[in-house]
Amino acid sequence: MPLTLPCCPSCDSKNVVKNGRIHNGKQNHKCHDCGRQFVQDPQNKVIDASTKRLIDKLLLEKIPLAGIARVVEVSEVWLQQYVNAKYEQVPRQVTVSAKKRGA
Ligand SMILES: [Zn+2]
Repeated sequence: MPLTLPCCPSCDSKNVVKNGRIHNGKQNHKCHDCGRQFVQDPQNKVIDASTKRLIDKLLLEKIPLAGIARVVEVSEVWLQQYVNAKYEQVPRQVTVSAKKRGA
């Protein structure tokens, strides 16, 4: 069985293993050197569920989007769209602060 594993897009390492498949059936890979997970076709990049969960946590930490994009290795454009879509889903339930100023 010929191994035709791609190089890691982040660090160009060949120390890459197969890492299951993503939801659309594409082969997922993982780099042992930098830990990056990736699929071979970058045009059809899909952010997996675990990455989205990580992003959700990072968003709660008030980290700038650019920083999150670097850490989880998604594009800032994608991240901005993701955040926008999220805010549209969440109903506005922000209540006015219970503490009154000067009270
Ligand atoms: Zn790597």
